Amino acid sequence: MIGSALVGVRMRPWAILCAGLLSCLNAKAALAADCPGHPDALGTSRTLVVDPREHPRIGTMQYPETLPLEDHEVVLTFDDGPLPRNSNQVLEILAAQCVKATFFEIGHMAQAYPEGIRKLRDAGHSIGTHSQDHPLTMDRMSIERARQEIDDGIASVKTALADDAALAPFFRIPGLMRAEGVEEYLASQGIQTWSADFLADDWRHISSSRVFELAIKRLEDKGRGILLLHDIQARTVAALPRILAELKARGYRIVHVVPATAERPATPTEPQQWQLHPPSEGVAISHWPKIPTFVFADADMLPAPALSDLEARDGASTAGPEGRADRFAHGVPLPREAPWPRETLLPPDDAAAILPVPAQNVFDIPEKSLAVIGPAPHRPKPTGLEMMTADAGDSPRRIRGKPHSGHVRQAAVHGTRHAAVHGTRHAAHARRGALKHLVQVKRGSV
Ligand SMILES: [Zn+2]
Repeated sequence: MIGSALVGVRMRPWAILCAGLLSCLNAKAALAADCPGHPDALGTSRTLVVDPREHPRIGTMQYPETLPLEDHEVVLTFDDGPLPRNSNQVLEILAAQCVKATFFEIGHMAQAYPEGIRKLRDAGHSIGTHSQDHPLTMDRMSIERARQEIDDGIASVKTALADDAALAPFFRIPGLMRAEGVEEYLASQGIQTWSADFLADDWRHISSSRVFELAIKRLEDKGRGILLLHDIQARTVAALPRILAELKARGYRIVHVVPATAERPATPTEPQQWQLHPPSEGVAISHWPKIPTFVFADADMLPAPALSDLEARDGASTAGPEGRADRFAHGVPLPREAPWPRETLLPPDDAAAILPVPAQNVFDIPEKSLAVIGPAPHRPKPTGLEMMTADAGDSPRRIRGKPHSGHVRQAAVHGTRHAAVHGTRHAAHARRGALKHLVQVKRGSV
């Protein structure tokens, strides 16, 4: 699986790719990394000092700016800890490679396991926060409550550290459920909001092999960036050694990010270095929704590690190759899959030339169609276009049971081609279905 997944990915040794003098120097620094007892360690190639007040929101998944990384530079981030069993293993794995990362810690976890927070500090990692209770509703809760979540989380981690200076002014919104008011409050406090540049889906019930595949594939697509992982997940613990080994084999370099202070000025950068990097053909950045449907399997609060977390085995995915079996768990929709691993199927370039011109009556909704609109107990089986419409704008619960959205898009494209070949009758039927669905959604929202 892994071999096939990585077929076609070019090996790009840093020695022939470091285009600028700075990146070459960084690569040499990585080789010279001092990692006692581990001469072949990945190491940390450089420290990037950032000023949150100059760049308050970062991460191309949601914001125009991201960290000013060179090609083949990676920033590792871990969320939701500490959880001793798994977080301690992550720390050991990182220590063995002399890799420094950034951790976004939850307040109530810090209260439960304060020694886990201090271990991060002692190991030299950057420590940010991730709210007090990990609510997945920051995009719609009152600003007063959001501020309380943020402030309490910071207070809890500071209490565990007993050293305010050891806490970085970095914050990641739980579930990436961003909201302007939340971001503005964070910025007003001099706190940098971190999204990410890519995920490895390690909160989903997938195998550690799949986590490894996704991390490497998405990094290769972008060439650099902030990777979001979860140190509380057993599958992440299992995947991490392979991820780090692969990063080294492919010539990637780890960058450690720390906040600027009076004694430690920000690393000099140009504004354009913070701008969205031109996406490669394999990265569908623009397809990521402004507020992603990125929720955990169990309700609104931080889920405890599931039993399946402890059962993850390499090569033994519990959910099939695309995790379709886990689209719903306990009646709650799982996160919409990130768009990158799929190929985007587009209509042929000459689609306009071969598609039939729709007749005027295509856009009419016959009276008899309206009869089935509403809470009909036997809703007609939706067409591919209907499902694609639902995928774009409907609530997760309304599209329960929909096929994997990648399959939906394929089906929709196939449907378009089918209609093109067989004339207007099929196209008209598909369009009526889409219109009908839109009406249904509108009525349902009243
Ligand atoms: Zn989280």
